[in-house]
Amino acid sequence: MATSASQLEFARTAHPAPRSADDRAIILNNPGFGTAFSDHMVEIDFDANAVGGAGGWHNPRVVPYGPIALDPAAAVLHYAQEIFEGLKAYRLNDGGIALFRPEANAARFNASARRLAMPEIHPDLFVEAVRQQVLADADWFPTVEGGSLYLRPFMFASEAFLGVRPARTYKFLVIASPAGNYFKSGAPAVSLWVSEYTRAAPGGTGAAKCGGNYASSLVPTAEAFARGHDQVLFLDAAEHRWVEELGGMNLFFVKSDGSLVTPPLGGTILPGITRDSLMTLAREEGLTVREEPYALDQWRTEAASGELVETFACGTAAVVTPVGKVADANGEFLIGSGGPGQLTQRLRQRLVAIQRGQAPDTHGWVHRIG
Ligand SMILES: *Cc1c(COP(=O)(O)O)cnc(C)c1O
Repeated sequence: MATSASQLEFARTAHPAPRSADDRAIILNNPGFGTAFSDHMVEIDFDANAVGGAGGWHNPRVVPYGPIALDPAAAVLHYAQEIFEGLKAYRLNDGGIALFRPEANAARFNASARRLAMPEIHPDLFVEAVRQQVLADADWFPTVEGGSLYLRPFMFASEAFLGVRPARTYKFLVIASPAGNYFKSGAPAVSLWVSEYTRAAPGGTGAAKCGGNYASSLVPTAEAFARGHDQVLFLDAAEHRWVEELGGMNLFFVKSDGSLVTPPLGGTILPGITRDSLMTLAREEGLTVREEPYALDQWRTEAASGELVETFACGTAAVVTPVGKVADANGEFLIGSGGPGQLTQRLRQRLVAIQRGQAPDTHGWVHRIG
């Protein structure tokens, strides 16, 4: 962890044949999500045997986006030693560029690294790598309303060996993908399928943002889709009773008295930065926010009685997604009238306004990089 960003200079290799302005314009007018990538990427290597003040991290560089060569025995391909982050860069009204709480992503990345027996990266180096990536491809911001540049920092074990132990070499990369407004005109309410599968058990990797968690969520998600639902919802592994989260989003419940409930972080839930930001904004409005277990039974009963009026999911990609319907093997129930709730929409608008520099940032969340 000795390395600070200032100790490492990023080398830059411009793309020899970047996308033409016309090709880029087509993508930026209709970016979708996660399908197109910008012209460059950041790459940094780690070698546990490297000496000096770099803490093992060396050779930080901005290079043309493209395939990377891996030894077929690279540990990540066999034992899934891999972690990632997701954050967005926004164009502000004054033409500047900002990241939203990138230090929080750096801290969470290192927490994930510790759980997966991977080396930590200095938070300054993490944020500088993201900044270098955005500045290298600053002409890749979508032109559509509500667009952003989605950044995906990730790290994987690159050492070639088949023994089971933490690898000694790693690669850290940042890639960027122009992202449209997840939902064009306000977020439609989604339908959730309560899975029989579980996502995370006590003592497992549920709180780490690792690829393996997502691999195991694919079958449950496909099942939700096959049954006509939009997302999968996971209950706790021990009692199969307590609501935990979706495959990639945290959950909030809005009570009729205006208070909010969200499941507590206990090692099986991913500590979302959107979750944390919304708790802060809600408390500032004078709303009560409780981090406490919420049972599926209770949810069903309170939705029927009117004690529960709204439910929403949250995460960086879609920000806030209203939940309209919940279904499991015993049947389904509606939340409110089945459409987006008022508090859900207000919190979403408040957070988006801060992220885009349209409302004052009183928390130091908006991190200007250009
Ligand atoms: C990334 C992620 C979230 C949301 O985290 P944000 O920091 O708000 O983007 C929630 N749940 C899971 C499982 C995730 O991987």
